[in-house]
Amino acid sequence: MELDDHAEDLASDLGVDKEEVKSDLQNLVEYSVPVDEAKQSLRRKYGDGSSGGGAPSSKDIAEITPEDGNVTVTGVVLTSGKRSIRYQGSDHVIVEGRLADETGAIDYTAWEDFGLSAGDTITAGNAGVREWDGEPELNLGESTSLSFEDDSLDIPAAYADEIGGDAQLANLQTGDRAVNVEVAVVECERRTIDGRDGETEILSGVFGDESGRLPFTNWDPAPEIEDGGAVRIENAYVQEFRGVPEVNVSEFSTVTALDREIEVGANSTTMDVGEAVRTGGIYDVELVGNAIAVRDGSGLIQRCPECYRVIQKGQCRTHGDVDGIDDLRVKAILDDGTGAVTVVLDDELTEDVYGGTLDDALEQAREAMDQEVVADTIREHIVGKEYRVRGHLSVDEYGANVDAESFEESADDPEARAAAFLEEVSA
Ligand SMILES: [Zn+2]
Repeated sequence: MELDDHAEDLASDLGVDKEEVKSDLQNLVEYSVPVDEAKQSLRRKYGDGSSGGGAPSSKDIAEITPEDGNVTVTGVVLTSGKRSIRYQGSDHVIVEGRLADETGAIDYTAWEDFGLSAGDTITAGNAGVREWDGEPELNLGESTSLSFEDDSLDIPAAYADEIGGDAQLANLQTGDRAVNVEVAVVECERRTIDGRDGETEILSGVFGDESGRLPFTNWDPAPEIEDGGAVRIENAYVQEFRGVPEVNVSEFSTVTALDREIEVGANSTTMDVGEAVRTGGIYDVELVGNAIAVRDGSGLIQRCPECYRVIQKGQCRTHGDVDGIDDLRVKAILDDGTGAVTVVLDDELTEDVYGGTLDDALEQAREAMDQEVVADTIREHIVGKEYRVRGHLSVDEYGANVDAESFEESADDPEARAAAFLEEVSA
């Protein structure tokens, strides 16, 4: 049968205009939807209840749960971006983004190029639902019939603002796809890494905008980024790296130099510890709390000369017997009554709280014939005091860690804070 006959067939079955059905059918077939599936999807679209046998029901986005096997959804494409992934040994180009209707929004992955663009209203018939991080996500693939609606769907303003994907760094979260940002390159270095196809050069560093800063990786070095200055990046995605969201700029991203200055927001967000930990990781955060303990592995420590990790009794877990390098570090537990984090201080910040240099620490350890005395001194100096810490928060299965950039005794009235703290703890 020709497309025309199929259309005739459908139009008379459904009692609708043949030309309308034909253009929908053509649309679907152009996107490689098998004609039988396309017809089924149009039967559903034009409301023929008789073909419902086993066909997934239409659902509002807010109603979709990870338990749904397949659903039919009508929504507005908020974002759509290409990305290359390696799946079962070969590279695939997939399209990812978000879809919204009147009730909610959902992430999708399209395994075929359906030609989705931001702003399109689509109906995805027989879309698969899978769970990702506890949330439902749509899989649009071979068995999905996709049609473009002529009438655009009205969606809430908050979603409409997302169309196109323009975003501020502070609002980006792990898992965001097809985002556009306008940023200043704050730090950038070229590195050689062992990629999945051997050695490859990448750029990594830090982007900043009015809202804050985030680390980035540019997998296909863009000269506009390496030159520094301000750039607009389209179709980037956000992935977690070492517990912190990171902007990924891929070969499918567009990078253009901007002819304007971007002021990088100097103020990091100040949050409750509990609230910060629940975000799962923040690049730049400020926390205020009491130092309640100094953990083992603080004070005078030794690192492996090969991998720079901390060693125990001259033994590196990877490199065996090594001649360790002396270093200073603190792992302090900071608690504000809403939660606790381990704050890691580097050698310089450790010197500040210790009140001496690495040489002083070595001297003290020699005299006491025990290097633990250095940690004890630090403990005496900081435990029970309140600190304002700023740095990178990461959260993983081992707990919440803040890689501190600054660690200062809080200027607030310590007695009042202590009283409030005790009240919260006992509450
Ligand atoms: Zn080592």
